[in-house]
Amino acid sequence: MNYIGAHISSAGGVEKTILRACQINATAFSFFTKNQIQWYAKPLIQKQIDCFKNLCIKYKFTPNQILPHSSYLINLGHPVDELLKKSQILFLDEMTRCSQLGLNFLNFHPGSHLNKITESSCLSRISHSINMILDQTQNITAVLENTAGQGTNVGYCFEHLAEIIDNIHDKSRIGVCLDTCHLFVSGYDLRTIQDCKNTFNKFNNIIGLKYLKGIHLNDSKKNINSRVDRHESLGLGKIGTEAFSWIIRNNNFSNIPMILETINPKIWKQEIQWLRSHKK
Ligand SMILES: [Zn+2]
Ligand SMILES: [Zn+2]
Repeated sequence: MNYIGAHISSAGGVEKTILRACQINATAFSFFTKNQIQWYAKPLIQKQIDCFKNLCIKYKFTPNQILPHSSYLINLGHPVDELLKKSQILFLDEMTRCSQLGLNFLNFHPGSHLNKITESSCLSRISHSINMILDQTQNITAVLENTAGQGTNVGYCFEHLAEIIDNIHDKSRIGVCLDTCHLFVSGYDLRTIQDCKNTFNKFNNIIGLKYLKGIHLNDSKKNINSRVDRHESLGLGKIGTEAFSWIIRNNNFSNIPMILETINPKIWKQEIQWLRSHKK
């Protein structure tokens, strides 16, 4: 079974996401568990939690079809201890929210060294932060997203993600979400079927397919290796259509959420329909 959907607005409350996902015929979705550009968020109230869970049951979304995304403010590799702490607290809060909603995953961008520390010490700070937060939560898996490599972001190559995972104590609660736009602009080609095979073979060799918990399906406005993150609608960017139909046909990616973060929500329904048409 393919789980295909998009990043859904949680404006007005997280419980609003489910019906919005249904409107585009999604069988998977992501959302922000809180306003993604603010540090503080009101705690979830029981009524919201119950409503979210009931609608998930009613519309047949299991926790494996839902991949929430954390706030962009979080930097689990922050070079300054005080600010690292602030990020850890927010991440713990978001993991707790996911847990309250009965979910299994929280997707996040690994972090940035801000030119203050080496990439390697940034990666070890990230592992340390994740270990701490996993110790204080239960059941939720932290899902690292590969980055485009903009600015001082780490996580733009499989070796970075492997190094973070290597230092995680409980490997059953760490995963990876691959974003196709980020892959492409960080230098992993996806333009032909052979390119896709090469890229995912590399992923399997360096990290392991068993860690793959989600895919963000985005075409790219920018060229390979540009390290600039600009999403585009499927087939309208530099990646083209091959990669997306190959991913949909590939049984290795069954049963994991595939999420559109493409730039035109008005055509998500058509994009989902187009993706589904490639199965079989
Ligand atoms: Zn993404
Ligand atoms: Zn992006």
